[in-house]
Amino acid sequence: MSQSVAAEQVIRHWIGGSAFESSSDRVGPVWNPATAQQIAEVCLASAADVDAAVAVAKQAFSAWRLVPLSRRAEIFFRLRGLLESHRDELAQVISTENGKTLADARGEIARGLENVEFACGIPALLKGSYSEQASSNIDVYQLRQPLGVVAGICPFNFPAMVPLWMFPSAIACGNTFVLKPSEKVPSASLMLARLAEEAGLPRGVLNVVQGDKFAVDRLLEHRDVRAISFVGSTPVARSIYQAGTHGGKRVQALGGAKNHMLVLPDADINAAADAAVSAGYGAAGQRCMAISVVVAVGSVADPLIEAIRKRIPTIKIGPGLEDGNEMGPLVTRQQRDRVASFLDAAVQDGATIVVDGRDDPAAKRDGFFLGASLIDHVTPGNRCYDEEIFGPVLSVVRTQTYAEAVNLINENPYGNGTAVFTQNGGAARRFQYDVEVGMVGVNVPVPVPVAYYSFGGWKSSLFGDLHIYGPDSLQFYTRSKVVTSRWPDPGTSKIDLGFPQVR
Ligand code: NAD
Repeated sequence: MSQSVAAEQVIRHWIGGSAFESSSDRVGPVWNPATAQQIAEVCLASAADVDAAVAVAKQAFSAWRLVPLSRRAEIFFRLRGLLESHRDELAQVISTENGKTLADARGEIARGLENVEFACGIPALLKGSYSEQASSNIDVYQLRQPLGVVAGICPFNFPAMVPLWMFPSAIACGNTFVLKPSEKVPSASLMLARLAEEAGLPRGVLNVVQGDKFAVDRLLEHRDVRAISFVGSTPVARSIYQAGTHGGKRVQALGGAKNHMLVLPDADINAAADAAVSAGYGAAGQRCMAISVVVAVGSVADPLIEAIRKRIPTIKIGPGLEDGNEMGPLVTRQQRDRVASFLDAAVQDGATIVVDGRDDPAAKRDGFFLGASLIDHVTPGNRCYDEEIFGPVLSVVRTQTYAEAVNLINENPYGNGTAVFTQNGGAARRFQYDVEVGMVGVNVPVPVPVAYYSFGGWKSSLFGDLHIYGPDSLQFYTRSKVVTSRWPDPGTSKIDLGFPQVR
């Protein structure tokens, strides 16, 4: 451990209802991105730590799956109240480690809370189905049963919301959970686990293992882990999906994105520019549903780019914990430098830098800050188009026609979110039909579905069959069992070697 980090700033695992001493001395730094100071060290789990968490979760499973549905709902109702009353504290924790503004952190908690509300409805959601007299004196019914121990592996950009996409539904379905937060933002998950226990969740039902690839690999190979929900970048999502399913696990692995905002010539320029700035630069572009490409069709390009350019200097950039700031820093120095490198690449590729975020006064601050950038005349083949940037950079691709624009979006390997800006309902309806993307906004730039729909992209933005949270999560976190039942009158019993038929 480094000399500068005090003992209480070591962030540990949470296993079986208490802080768990790591068996390894591997640790990672936790930064405050707004100051570029290291604020803590986080334990990085060994295989033995992961095994301990899975063993505790496995042991808790047999009792937890017996807990009545109404009692599970009661716990989630209480968790909802506790999250409300600790919202500011949790937002502080998120902002300190991730860098996003307090308002944005409160926003992610609000969206996460929707998933706790969804879990409150578990008695109604887990209802099975029943067919009376499917054959003579035979009834058939379907049950949904939990899987056992399931794991969730999370990215840095939503330290509370993504865990809340996963564990409320999984646990409400009767599973026990091992949560592996991003090592960059380890504290919010610990707070969620403590609050869940305060709400009445029995010890061992929700465990937090801090760690990196090492912990993930152990979860992937552990035979007692039945399912894995992953949210993160595409290369990792793809490999987790492959390794997990190869080992016989159920896996949903949500990956990266390159979200296009299509602006048709009839769109309201000011509304489209406001949306592009909000969705492109909010959270410093570090949202998987952030807009990263504006596709300007025909004559709309020049006035739209001018409207976006004029808005950029009005964005208040600074530490997320300070009131009034609208955009915080990038999460790490490496990420800031990587994002900045796309601007040099854009020039080399022949695109036009309209606004260079490196020139923003905020970029001179001590933290990992970068101003908002706007790049025009971008085309496929440019590095800033081909790669996920995950920073405050908007690229503009100009097309002559709607068909050319939709083709561009459909050819892109990612398919997380997209949006169309138009005043023509018919054009919007055609776009929602044509576009090969999992979540579509009509004049809504960040179309994250409400919790009673499920969230998921297409193509390289999701590996697996079921989307995350909402109705799909009930299928993902349970197995269906169909029972065919007869309570015969002993007088009618006889031998029949034929294949059972409906009669
Ligand atoms: P990441 O892929 O680097 O890390 C995600 C998780 O995987 C972390 O817990 C990390 O410890 C672990 N991990 C990292 N490398 C690994 C490896 N080689 N093997 C096994 N595990 C590994 O992602 P990130 O930088 O934390 O998050 C940003 C990415 O997440 C972006 O690509 C973003 O688009 C994506 N994201 C997607 C969604 C979605 O819903 N599709 C939501 C949020 C973020």
